Amino acid sequence: MKKSFVFMSTIYLALLGTAVVYYPQHVETAVIEDRAQLLPTQMKRITATTETNELQDLLNEAAKEDRVITLAGTQHSQGGQTLYPGGWLIDMKEYDEILAFDPTAQTLTVQSGATWSKIQEYIQPHGLALQVTQSQSIFTVGGTMSVHAHGRDLRYNALSESIESFRLLTADGTILDVSKDQHADYFQHVLGGYGLFGIILDVTLRLTEDELYVQQTAELDYQDYPEYFKEQVLENPEAKMHLARLSTAPDTFLKDMYVTNYLVALNQELRDDYAKLSEERIIAIPKFMLGVARYSDTGKDWFWDVQQTYSERLDGDLITRNNAMRSDSTFMDYESSSRTEVLQEYFVPIEQYVSYIDALREVLERHDINLLNITVRYVERNEDTVLNYATSDMFSLVLLIHQPLDEDSLAETDAAIEEMVATTLAHDGSYYLPYYQFPTRKQFKEAYPKWQSFQQFKEQADPEGRFQNLWYKEYFE
Ligand SMILES: Cc1cc2nc3c(=O)[nH]c(=O)nc-3n(C[C@H](O)[C@H](O)[C@H](O)COP(=O)(O)OP(=O)(O)OC[C@H]3O[C@@H](n4cnc5c(N)ncnc54)[C@H](O)[C@@H]3O)c2cc1C
Repeated sequence: MKKSFVFMSTIYLALLGTAVVYYPQHVETAVIEDRAQLLPTQMKRITATTETNELQDLLNEAAKEDRVITLAGTQHSQGGQTLYPGGWLIDMKEYDEILAFDPTAQTLTVQSGATWSKIQEYIQPHGLALQVTQSQSIFTVGGTMSVHAHGRDLRYNALSESIESFRLLTADGTILDVSKDQHADYFQHVLGGYGLFGIILDVTLRLTEDELYVQQTAELDYQDYPEYFKEQVLENPEAKMHLARLSTAPDTFLKDMYVTNYLVALNQELRDDYAKLSEERIIAIPKFMLGVARYSDTGKDWFWDVQQTYSERLDGDLITRNNAMRSDSTFMDYESSSRTEVLQEYFVPIEQYVSYIDALREVLERHDINLLNITVRYVERNEDTVLNYATSDMFSLVLLIHQPLDEDSLAETDAAIEEMVATTLAHDGSYYLPYYQFPTRKQFKEAYPKWQSFQQFKEQADPEGRFQNLWYKEYFE
């Protein structure tokens, strides 16, 4: 069923052409797809608005006409989380005003379509920074909350901890003030709730000081990583952020690693010299190198060597917190009508890391999938959300896979991913939900044992099923 759906989607895509990501105010019937291009979907209507009352009107109209609504930020989710056939898509990107800012209390209230980048531009002149975001700043606040994202930060725990409150337009048209203390059931479900419980309107975020960090880089063997991480990073109060890479080059496959730690710099007076927000750098060189890695094993070895050398050169360089939270991303953009690039992310308890990597290597060596990159982050145990992936202190591995769109290649990737997820679950791990629906329903239920309570709350909060998406349909219906 799932595989034929992918195949049909691929044909549909070939017939109907390229992605529509920025929509005009109002469009009747269009084929929309998210970044992975695997689920082109005929939507009935696409609307963008800047006004809260228009969102309320849309919801009323959808109820009268018995239409399904999907919500979209920048659509970097990859498994139909913003799509539903015949549905009305609300593009939230223009709903992005900054509503209130208190630099003393270090809080900011912003509409949910704002990107992290826009917020950084606003708060950076006040010497402030975000507490938790993804590694890039291109995503919307609403999209980030709805996947309950995580990033490089080591000290603020989960995104949920940095959300003071938000307003939610629920399925019956009520606007609720939601926080950990008020309508706590909505807080636990909307964060990591994939747009299924209402429209997040505006959000009050907790901020922190922008700080100057000195980058510390090191190369190590994967077997030494857990101990290194605990002793040199987690137990070092000066370490505030961390990111690692695991080799996908044939010569050092899933063995060599290099890490980047962000330690508080001794000379904070220099912060203003580095505070200007970085722009995307010239992308030709990294784009070229990634291109070479896509098409040959030699290219992958070469790409890994270059990345390592670049990392060594960064050792001792200074960078602000804001800039460490807005890494380049456009060099990764990939457009082709016959191929795409998909992400997978697996979480595994720190103490299981070494045996897990050995098992993962064994799976990958048996499958023909084109793995370009693996980054490793740390996620601290957090129980704030119902669909919770960090059930203990974990490492998260993000895998970037180059993917031809023909049926055989998709089937091979599907098989490999099912095995990788099985291996992850066997190591008390979990997997991240914003990506394509490769994992099976059984695997989903094992990874997210509270799925039933998620579904029950969905049925209670939205009995008509006004808010829908293809991901929910795949795993719950
Ligand atoms: C290149 C790349 C790098 C990434 N890096 C990271 C990373 O470092 N860490 C990490 O955790 N994740 C990462 N991700 C995943 C990313 O965080 C999610 O895909 C996130 O959803 C992207 O935000 P978006 O604005 O594109 O959301 P979308 O994909 O547009 O939407 C995601 C979900 O949010 C819902 N939604 C959107 N707006 C609202 C709203 N206002 N109210 C209610 N629901 C809403 C949608 O319906 C959908 O279900 C990465 C993804 C990519 C492609």
